[in-house]
Formats: sequence, C-alpha cells, structure tokens
Amino acid sequence: MKIDYLDKFSGTLLGVSIGDTLGHPFEGVIREIIYSQFDDFKEFVKNKRKLFRTYTDDTQLTLHTAEALIQGSGFNENYFIREYVKWLDDPPIGPGFGCISSIQKLKYGIPWQKAASNSGGNGTAMRVSPIGLFFCKEIKKLINVALKSSIITHSHPAAAAGAIVIARAIAFLLDKSIDTGFSIEEFFATIIASISHSQEKIWEEFIEILNRVKESLEISIEAGLIKFSQVGVKAPYFLEEYLGKAFVHPYTLSTVACAIFIFLKNLNSFEDCIVQLATAGGDSDTVGAIGGSLAGAYFGLGNIPDDLRDLVRHNKEILSISERLYLKFIEKNSLG
Ligand SMILES: [Mg+2]
Repeated sequence: MKIDYLDKFSGTLLGVSIGDTLGHPFEGVIREIIYSQFDDFKEFVKNKRKLFRTYTDDTQLTLHTAEALIQGSGFNENYFIREYVKWLDDPPIGPGFGCISSIQKLKYGIPWQKAASNSGGNGTAMRVSPIGLFFCKEIKKLINVALKSSIITHSHPAAAAGAIVIARAIAFLLDKSIDTGFSIEEFFATIIASISHSQEKIWEEFIEILNRVKESLEISIEAGLIKFSQVGVKAPYFLEEYLGKAFVHPYTLSTVACAIFIFLKNLNSFEDCIVQLATAGGDSDTVGAIGGSLAGAYFGLGNIPDDLRDLVRHNKEILSISERLYLKFIEKNSLG
C-alpha cells in the first residue's frame, strides 16, 4: 500500500484546526447543554458561522511546533523555545495557565529547566502532532522528542505521557488507510508500548486507563465520556461540580483518554468523528484538536469535506505549513 504522506500531513494539521475551531464555542460547557442548543449540528454551524470564526492556542502551538521542526530540520530545543516565545505575539487565544506562565519565563531567558511549570494540563499533547508526523519513521526518536518537547514547558509526567502517546498514535495511523482499517488491539499495544519503559507512577496509571478505554468501546459516547472525562484527574484539575457529567477535565490523562475513545468510536467518517470530538463537553476545543489530529492522520486531507476545511481561518497557511513540513520530512528520509 502506497501512503500519500502529503495528504496525511495536511489532514493531520487541518484536523487539529477543524476540531479546535468547532470545539472553541463549547469550551467549558457540559455536553448535555451543548446538545440542547441544536438538533442538526451542520445547520447550527451554517447559521452561527460567527461562533466558529477562530481556532485557539491548540492550533497556534501546533503550527509553531511544525515551524520549529522545519527551521531546525528536526528537534532543536532552541528553535522550539523560539517558536513558542513567538506565540506570545500571535497573541495566544484561550491559553492554559501552564503554557503561558512557562513560555513567559522562557521569553525572559530563564532556562527551561527552571521555567517549566509543574502542569499536567493539555498544553503539550495538543501541540505534539507534527512530531508524530515528522518522526514516523524513527519511533525511538519520536518518543524521545515528544518527551523533550513536553518538558521544556511542562515538568509534570502526565503531560509528557499524553504527548508521547498522541505522537505515537499519529505515526501508527499515518501508515493505515480507511480502505483497510486497522486492528484496535494493535493500536493500543503500540501506544501503550510507547510509555511502558518507565517506572513513573502516572505513566503506569495512564496505561491502566488506556486499557479501560480499550475495553469500553462498546458503550455509547455519552456513557464513555461520563466514565472517562474525570479519569485520573488530580487537584487542582478536579472540578467537583462536574462529577458524573460529560465534562472533559483539562488534564492530560482524561483529555487524551476521551479523545482516543471518541476517535475509535467514529472510524467511518471524518465529519462524524470531528463533530463528536468538538462537542465532547468541558475542554471541547482540545478534545477536538487532539482527536482531530488522530482523525486527520487516519482519514487524510482527501477525506475531509471542503466545507469543514473552508470553515478554518488561515486554512491555506495551514496547508502550506503542512507541505513545508512534508518536504522537510521527505528530504530528511531521502524519500520522494
Ligand atoms: Mg484551546
């Protein structure tokens, strides 16, 4: 099977931005309240176009990650730091505290070892997809770079675990096609293996959570979200008022678990998948962005409807960055 990598690279970055754009109006809203606002989501988007006018920090940081890889022809922490500092001038849209506080310190020259915040938030898993693309042929390096790219801003092990798992999942999905599908068993074995080499307690907890997701793919999306939207969440991320509700907490383990769950429940249509992701409830834009990266890597640009592509602000620039990242990848791996 010949893989069209450009189609997959473009699909991944566009997938992030579509999920982020569609989820942004629903950030911080419980799923049942989101669903009380419309009968037909497509009509809702058409009639409320202004609500969906922008993506947020998830897409911004993903594009800066891609740019850092292009500029550095791979991972170079100085290029990463430079790009993340540049993000402060974008300016950031709906940033998480962990990200903004650490990157502001990096801006003032504080070394990352001191600047990184002890945040288990989603800031690193949301921006990691270009690493999954670029290092898809070098899995050891992919894991190492996903980890390094995470710890320069987030020192918490949950953030690193989420970033590694998502980058590894992207590389796995790049080589699959919707014509042949893939084995769910193999998918979980692959992503779990990427974080199995550590004694880190939170990584072990994450492996247990991923196994529970695998065993839960028969339940409804609503039931799955109630089950996983607070899974593993620690203070200060735990929000008592949302206990038992479909409200994805902005913590890496819960958000990545929910994004993977929804993605695997929707392997027949990019559109159905991205709509379910972006209306997850709670940290909806980030579930949309992370799950959108998986969906984009699997379905590819060719299976993304034009109207969803056109909804995204700066979609031509996003496709152009995807192409430049792809060309760098081809050059580095002497493909083409
Ligand atoms: Mg966001």
